Amino acid sequence: MLKYKVGDKVKILQGKDKGREGKIEKVYPKEGQALIPGINIYKKHVKGVTGQKGGIYDVPRPLAFSKIAVVCPKCKKPTRVGFRILKKEKVRVCKKCSKEMDAK
Ligand SMILES: [Zn+2]
Repeated sequence: MLKYKVGDKVKILQGKDKGREGKIEKVYPKEGQALIPGINIYKKHVKGVTGQKGGIYDVPRPLAFSKIAVVCPKCKKPTRVGFRILKKEKVRVCKKCSKEMDAK
């Protein structure tokens, strides 16, 4: 089970968008990265190919898990994620308020 999930509200801890908040759109478990729309935007230069216009595009790059923190939906603080076994199910808990983060 991953500490980060699509739809998680996160706070950026490092990098050029430090302090900003966003929502995870995609998780890359192997790379340990998450894509957050509007965060970590880089300009990408695209050469014009046949039938396609070249130009400069804004492309969000995924951020390493270590550079983001999940904002706990219960205490609203950026926190580290812990795990707890609840009714044989592994659930994510907030390390600050120790409440379950995935309310059902
Ligand atoms: Zn909390």
